[in-house]
Order: sequence, then structure tokens, then C-alpha cells
Amino acid sequence: MPLSEFEIIERYFRRHAGARDDVVLGIGDDAALVRPPPGLELALAIDTLVSGVHFLPSTDPAALGHKALAVNLSDLAAMGAEPAWATLSLTLPAADEEWLEPFAAGFAALARNHGVALIGGDTTRGPLSITVQVAGLIPPGQALRRSGAQPDDLIWVTGTLGDAALALRCLEGTAKVARARLGPLLQRLERPLPRVREGQALRGVASAAIDVSDGLAADLGHLLAAERHGATLHAARLPLSAPVQEQVAATGDWMLALAGGDDYELCFTTDARHRAEVESRFTALGTPCACIGQVRAHPGLRVVLEGGEVLDPAGAGYRHFGGR
Ligand code: ADP
Ligand code: MG
Repeated sequence: MPLSEFEIIERYFRRHAGARDDVVLGIGDDAALVRPPPGLELALAIDTLVSGVHFLPSTDPAALGHKALAVNLSDLAAMGAEPAWATLSLTLPAADEEWLEPFAAGFAALARNHGVALIGGDTTRGPLSITVQVAGLIPPGQALRRSGAQPDDLIWVTGTLGDAALALRCLEGTAKVARARLGPLLQRLERPLPRVREGQALRGVASAAIDVSDGLAADLGHLLAAERHGATLHAARLPLSAPVQEQVAATGDWMLALAGGDDYELCFTTDARHRAEVESRFTALGTPCACIGQVRAHPGLRVVLEGGEVLDPAGAGYRHFGGR
């Protein structure tokens, strides 16, 4: 007998809900009730992963459970918010317990790491699709926005760029790396670690911030467009792992790093006077953070290559509906 919707919720989601003192009423009623601390602002984000569009149907369900939450936590991180609650809308082709068990466990493990409670959702039958909404908390006026970058501000990026894109190319057979190197790259693609603590550490110092999900060029482009500014980046300063560095050196193709997508790093700007403060905050967190260029008053993104040549990555990045 296949499981009913109610058995699925009971067995896989209520058990993994996680506890928070501010959840007045969790899974099981017509709506959840939460008690946000007085005076704080709520940050809300939602993201959908569709089978065949955002992931291969063969993807490990535990990785999917992780990633469905991780991409949302990355959005909260980019606002500087502290994650609190999540809801999960799941459309499943069948009540497959061998899929549900690892999916729910992957979701729950990341939720636990970030103190997030699963407080509700929806379960329906249809082509596989996963929607997660998260809510986070932030003191009034302290959220990091895409707008706010000023000419001469420094541009920073956390971690490394292009690892997930290189993993995807390896899976598709359009790139090749040594076997021992594939594992860490696949981790970046399948289990991105959202920069939640880093985002909160940027409160009061970043002039603007965005998370890098569609490739650095596209996402930095959104940040710059919010103020009609441009930027100069230095290719030599882009933070790249050894395999990505070698791939770029071998092919001369910087787009792997600039337009790869699925990085889930933070890109942010600060006043140039805050350089030492940013460096000390990231040293304290133990997270790499690189200064890759500067905001310019004139629109357009220029990437200066090592030989002095200038690359214009305009229009790079993933677009669901095409166009420029
Ligand atoms: P309704 O018919 O009122 O929409 P549902 O039967 O969809 O109620 O859901 C029953 C309860 O289970 C609700 O509290 C809902 O939030 C929760 N729920 C349903 N699906 C999920 C899910 N995938 N994850 C977490 N909670 C869920
Ligand atoms: Mg419902």
C-alpha cells in the first residue's frame, strides 16, 4: 500500500521538524504560528527546484533535500538575516519511501545546523518539484540590499568561484579532472554551504550584497544595475580552486569562473576604508574572502586579464527565459 499524504507528512516531515521556542504551533494545523521577537524585521525568501531544470532526475535525494534548503538560506545570508523557520512544498510523482527518507534527512541535517524549524508545507502528486520558503530575522534597517554600492567601493567575494560549474561540466562530459579532485567539486554542486554567518557578519560594513547563484558576472551585474554603476575586476584576483585555475589556464575560458553558476558565495561591496575591518571579520570566521575589484560610476563590467586585455562578460549567466 502506498503511503497517504498524511502518512508522508507524519513519517518524514513532522519527525524532522526541529524545535524552536518561538514556534507556537508547527506542522499539523491549517497554518503554523510563530512569535517573532518584538521589533525585528522578517526576511522572507522562496525558491523552487524543478526536476530536469535545476537538477538531474538521478540526483541523490539526500543532496536535493540539502540543496533545496541551502539555496534559500543563501538568499537570507545575502540579506544578513538570521534564519528561523521554513516551509516545504513538495510535488512527488509517487510516495517512494526510498526517496523520501534520504530527502527528509538531507533537509533536516542542514536545518539543524542553522537552527531552522520546519513548520509546515504542502504535499501533492505530479512531476517532481521542490519549493522551500524560509523566514529569517534582522534588526530594523540592517538588511543588506542589492542597492547601495557607491563608485570606488571595493568588490569582494567569499570562497571560490566556478567549482560547481566545473563539476557539472565533468558530469556532462565536457570537461575532465583527475578522479581525486571530482569529489570536492561535486560537493560544491550538490551540497553548497550557504554563507549564513558571513552574511550576518557583513551587517554595518557592506554597502550592498547579493548571493552568487547565476554566476558572478550576472549577479554582480544586478548589484551594479541597482545603482546604474559599473565595475572593474581583476581576473588574477578571482578566487579559484586549483582544478578551476587549471581548467581556465588550459582553455583560456574565464567564463567558467565568471558565469558558471551554483556557487552560492556572497558578493558584496564596502567603502574602501573598511578593507581592514572586512579582512579581520573574515579571518575571525575562518572564511576566505577576496577583494576582486572596484565599483565605477559608468555602467559596464570590465574584467582586466593578466596581460592587460579587457574582457566584457555582458549577458553571461543562466536565464530561464533567454533574452538579454
Ligand atoms: P491543508 O489541507 O489545510 O492544506 P495539508 O493536508 O496540506 O493541510 O497539510 C497538513 C499539515 O501538514 C499542515 O500543517 C501543513 O503545513 C503540513 N505539511 C504538509 N505537507 C508538508 C511538507 N511537505 N512538509 C512539512 N509540512 C507539511
Ligand atoms: Mg495544504
